[in-house]
Amino acid sequence: MSCARLGLSLLLLAALGWAEDERGSEDSAHPKREGPGHSHWSYADKAQWQSSFPDCGGQRQSPIDIDTNSTVFGHELQPIVLAGYNLDPSERLSLRNNGHTVVLKLPGSLTIASGYSQEYRAKQLHLHWGSPEGPGSEHTVDGRRYDGELHMVYYNPSYRSFEEAMRQPGGLAVLAAFLQVGPEDNVHYQPLLEQLPEVQEEGKETTVAGFNIKGLLPSNLSRYYRYSGSLTTPPCFQTVNWTVFNQTVLLSQKQILLLESTLQGDDDEALQNNFRLTQSLHGRKVLASFQAAISARQAPLPGDGSPPLTPTPDGATKRSTDRAPRAGAGCSPCADSEKQLGFSLQTAHVLAGLFGVLFAVTALTFLIYVHKQRSQNRRPASQSKPNVSYTAASMDEQTL
Ligand SMILES: [Zn+2]
Repeated sequence: MSCARLGLSLLLLAALGWAEDERGSEDSAHPKREGPGHSHWSYADKAQWQSSFPDCGGQRQSPIDIDTNSTVFGHELQPIVLAGYNLDPSERLSLRNNGHTVVLKLPGSLTIASGYSQEYRAKQLHLHWGSPEGPGSEHTVDGRRYDGELHMVYYNPSYRSFEEAMRQPGGLAVLAAFLQVGPEDNVHYQPLLEQLPEVQEEGKETTVAGFNIKGLLPSNLSRYYRYSGSLTTPPCFQTVNWTVFNQTVLLSQKQILLLESTLQGDDDEALQNNFRLTQSLHGRKVLASFQAAISARQAPLPGDGSPPLTPTPDGATKRSTDRAPRAGAGCSPCADSEKQLGFSLQTAHVLAGLFGVLFAVTALTFLIYVHKQRSQNRRPASQSKPNVSYTAASMDEQTL
């Protein structure tokens, strides 16, 4: 059954403004104008950010591509625990189009109570997206870009203000979640999305009634990647403790299109593709709170959770292959892939069994054939066969 094992092995191998502008929510920190309709920086001149904001050329920049096979399991990484997120509708939250993204201010009463070595206090959340032509998450996983990305921005309250914290090592934390097209509307995003037309133009602001902010995040807050990085927009301060959740958040195609098509940025142009390209790791390690890596030394087990994702080209030139609605709520690259891996393993077992049986039958048939030929060859010449017939060569046959 070595063939069966080989088949199984092959199948397993096959299976296998951030706070950024985050700071844009702060009028005092909002990019200054160079002229009418022109903000201080734009996604069109990403390559030039460094000349005005030196940190953008640093060695601990974000976003990054998360190569799951290079991640290191961090057993100390505990599940993220949030406190104070179910806001009363009487509470009014500011929602603003700052020309780079849409920013929802968050009360400081929202905290990350556990999952970091210290408590963090919420400042704001915002989104990154692509266009109808292509996906627009900032981080990528094994080269794959998702449709969008949510950033919840926090600061270390041991500093006097967000503005001070953003300049200090470890002063900020961002919880990031990938947005992905799913089969139905995500009701948690409705309070936010239905207000987008109200802030269509750059600089417009409105208010949103309090809702359960936690609903914007994935349900599984225990599986995530952690690394040290930066704001993904100027001034690119390298002070962010990043958490990128493994489980994605599903929105309907209609909701994603609304996000991609409603807002305007500079010069009344559509605000699209507001993501920075991935930056080099420069030796940084990316930790995973779960066993994300599958290495040659580490045999994969069902449920071990490494996503057998098919990388798609980066950039906005190609729509994510996951645009098609997918079943299930709160899809996770890993949770899904665990199912896929389980399914693949089942399929692999069945196929391996079939290959094994086919191999055995073929071998048996061949042996019977050889045996028959040898029997015939031993018969007297009187029972002869045609001279020219070809059989396995033997000295006996030569005499026929
Ligand atoms: Zn961001």
